[in-house]
Amino acid sequence: MEKMQFKAESKRLLEMMINSIYSQKEIFLRELISNSSDAIDKIYYRALTDESLSFNKEDYYIKVIADKDNRTLMIRDTGIGMTKDELEEHLGVIAKSGSLAFKTENEAKDGHDIIGQFGVGFYSAFMVADVVTVRTKALGSDTAYQWKSEGADGYTIDTCEKDGVGTEIILTIKENTEDESYDEYLEEYRLKAIIKKYSDFIRYPIKMDVTGR
Ligand code: ADP
Ligand code: MG
Repeated sequence: MEKMQFKAESKRLLEMMINSIYSQKEIFLRELISNSSDAIDKIYYRALTDESLSFNKEDYYIKVIADKDNRTLMIRDTGIGMTKDELEEHLGVIAKSGSLAFKTENEAKDGHDIIGQFGVGFYSAFMVADVVTVRTKALGSDTAYQWKSEGADGYTIDTCEKDGVGTEIILTIKENTEDESYDEYLEEYRLKAIIKKYSDFIRYPIKMDVTGR
């Protein structure tokens, strides 16, 4: 399978995320939950104008699933999903001005709480994960795709099996180091606290499931 390269600017941001010494790594969860919420919003707005779509509130939620035995944390949503082109377009490049602003500002005045001020987006997952896997099926598509990256040297996209429209972001959580703990991102109490701190205003239910020891 061909390995695709990140665009140059994305690669720089990604490297910053991977090597982040930022103390609030916990904000990755805010970013992923906000993307899930945006994706559900997109279905909601589509349903307002498309009569063939109905929006049943109970079908739309975000689920955070920690598996301690496999060291994975999954953020799953029933949002609009991504096509193969959208995966390329949105996860292969920095899509937003916020990320660019962050990069420029960070060069100007490092040492301040800069990451916290901007939405740094999807790549913040690499602050806590060695491997990021995205499995997604777009609304109106029969095919699901898997995007996978172990960091700055690129990503792969392949077809995969997935029931239902929506997206799963699966993080393989880093091993603890001497001065950094990552285990906490698999603990229910910690995940709940992070969600309460940053994602309390999210309009859709955030469910949780923690397994393993
Ligand atoms: P932003 O949210 O500011 O656009 P991100 O880096 O957080 O920037 O995300 C980039 C893009 O990737 C999003 O705009 C969206 O198009 C796509 N994306 C990310 N996560 C999801 C998701 N869970 N469902 C659908 N699309 C997503
Ligand atoms: Mg975002």
